[in-house]
Amino acid sequence: MGEQTKFLLDESRIPKRWYNIQADLPKPLAPVLHPGTMKPVGPDDLAPLFPMALIMQEVTTEREIDIPEPVRDIYRLWRPSPLFRAHRLEKALGTPAKIFYKYEGVSPAGSHKPNTAVPQAFYNREAGIKRLSTETGAGQWGSSLAFAGALFGIDVTVFQVRVSYDQKPYRRALMESYGARCLPSPSTETEYGRSVLAKRPDHPGSLGIAISEAVEIAAKNDDTKYALGSVLNHVLLHQTVVGLEAMEQLKMADAWPDVIVGCTGGGSNFAGITFPFIGDGLRGGAKPRIVAVEPAACPSLTRGKFAYDFGDTGHMTPLAKMHTLGSTFTPPGFHAGGLRYHGMAPLVSHLRDLNLIEAVAYHQTECFAAGIQFARAEGILPAPEANHAVKGAIEEALRCKREGRSQTILFNLCGHGHFDMAAYMAYSAGTLTDQSYNEEELAMALAGLPSVPEPA
Ligand SMILES: *Cc1c(COP(=O)(O)O)cnc(C)c1O
Repeated sequence: MGEQTKFLLDESRIPKRWYNIQADLPKPLAPVLHPGTMKPVGPDDLAPLFPMALIMQEVTTEREIDIPEPVRDIYRLWRPSPLFRAHRLEKALGTPAKIFYKYEGVSPAGSHKPNTAVPQAFYNREAGIKRLSTETGAGQWGSSLAFAGALFGIDVTVFQVRVSYDQKPYRRALMESYGARCLPSPSTETEYGRSVLAKRPDHPGSLGIAISEAVEIAAKNDDTKYALGSVLNHVLLHQTVVGLEAMEQLKMADAWPDVIVGCTGGGSNFAGITFPFIGDGLRGGAKPRIVAVEPAACPSLTRGKFAYDFGDTGHMTPLAKMHTLGSTFTPPGFHAGGLRYHGMAPLVSHLRDLNLIEAVAYHQTECFAAGIQFARAEGILPAPEANHAVKGAIEEALRCKREGRSQTILFNLCGHGHFDMAAYMAYSAGTLTDQSYNEEELAMALAGLPSVPEPA
């Protein structure tokens, strides 16, 4: 018999509390600012967009936050998710390293995103909200919120970035099957969408534009709130179930990571797997190296500025300090749609600034090659976003081989790629190419960052 490959926890071991890294930060986060007054925003400023329970989770420094029982009850549909030891991949690479991966593709939407969609829908229903508006790029977040909305009886309106609305009809079909209404963005439904279309009727859309549309709908309707699938502190908080479970499973495997790897779009799946370990290190425990992997075509952590910026293109959101390429920057249309965001979670940016995490960027073809190698060894075909984490983990395993060190590597396999077969077809056909962003456009977007006075 071979060594154990799969580490499963009983349903009763689904975490009862999320872990809040704000309790353990050596230096607090910079405040979120109102763009008009440049003063820190208070809970009341955010009340038109989010229910108070989520606003409080955004700012609390309590270490542990109870997970409501109705949320845990839905988590049981797919949690605890499995942790695997990648014996066959290790063998294929000829590495002395041990590779573990946490698989979040077992959720109904096929990624980690329902971990936060479900509590967000729950807290909104508790607050009497009838409708949620949101944006989606490739459709993973939209389908996760549509699923959660269906379970809690909340209507969901999704603004899907125009290019992906046209090119990826299956995610849209999934959202509509769950009962959500899905509109191509820019749309004629909002003032901001109409203003964009007036300038360019064939605009392909972007996440930044879709966020502006979804925020506008929530701000103008009392019964509607806004939901975001990444970036915000409460979203990262909800994702910590991933790392908390992984800790228990690694104890079963009698292993502990020397390196943890995750891909970063807005930072939520990365935070989910790494924050419980980083927190343990900040409280005196082991300090694994932490590696964020981002696309070379949208490299906010490795090429962006750590500065105050808007979260959206229409400048309706407050200002947050984060690694950003500039809110007017339009990333090229590569296939990992979930990683095409100009900014980064303030918490992840803060940890990078404090040198508590590292960041690397890879091009999409090398990431697809890694994903295919992974699928042929382990059987699971990763989402294009997850391929970045696979690539990062393989690079670490090859480093161990060169250095003759048997380290333990953990990574987050944040979703499967079953809705992304067009990208895999393009890869096999050799038509998938590496794209670089326009340096001039990046320089302009960075030069246009809002100027924020230094705090006294
Ligand atoms: C949305 C998504 C991402 C990017 O978002 P993060 O907040 O950075 O996790 C990555 N992988 C998958 C599978 C996604 O659906």
